[in-house]
Amino acid sequence: MSEIFSTYISTLLSYEFIYFDLDDTLLDHKSAEAAGLKDIHAHFDFFDEVSAEKLINVYHQVNSRQWSLYSQAKVSREELQRNRFELTLKELGLNSARYEEVGNQYMQFYRNHWQWIDRAKEAFYKIVEKYPVGILTNGFAETQRKKFEAFDLYHSAETTVISEEVGVLKPHPDVFNHATELAGVDSDNILYVGDSFGSDVIGGTKFGWNVAWFTENGEPEKHEKAHFVFNDFIKLKNLLKV
Ligand SMILES: [Mg+2]
Repeated sequence: MSEIFSTYISTLLSYEFIYFDLDDTLLDHKSAEAAGLKDIHAHFDFFDEVSAEKLINVYHQVNSRQWSLYSQAKVSREELQRNRFELTLKELGLNSARYEEVGNQYMQFYRNHWQWIDRAKEAFYKIVEKYPVGILTNGFAETQRKKFEAFDLYHSAETTVISEEVGVLKPHPDVFNHATELAGVDSDNILYVGDSFGSDVIGGTKFGWNVAWFTENGEPEKHEKAHFVFNDFIKLKNLLKV
């Protein structure tokens, strides 16, 4: 859908509640993750045998595979937390017995690099002035709650939904159902702003939400699934007239 046309369509709809995804929508998780991995690479001497880039690449592969298994309930949260570092170390030919200290140290470094996505903060606060907003996120509850606190989101968001606390991950409809009930409006009056095609665009639209997809993806057949596609928060502000 072209941007002009989807803007036109969107003006015909009335959004009564705006939900935001957290990681890589409001907050720059990807950069914080890469910076945290570079920090552990520098912190532990045994990583000298491999480059930081290699560590980041292997971790990404292992971590996304583990998250996929976790979302299918094939590994527990504890297994996911263990496996992502144990298997990364193993794959790199390093001592995998050190997975726990590496994992703990990573979480500390990762937190130091949390920051807003470009222009998301200003857009978010403008939107908060005009609409009720909520946060709907996958991820570990403990970590996500720390982000809510660090970025003062409990104060500005009327609802915060962490899928781990619902018991299933996005795109499972139970997560969207729970978030809709908390918002107290009909599904078709909700706009969801998110970056993931599978979790946010497909998950949200299947449940009857409108989805604004934050992406650099250029595939038109995927764009058609979303109600609005944007790559700069200025465009979202224009859509919502804030
Ligand atoms: Mg995301």
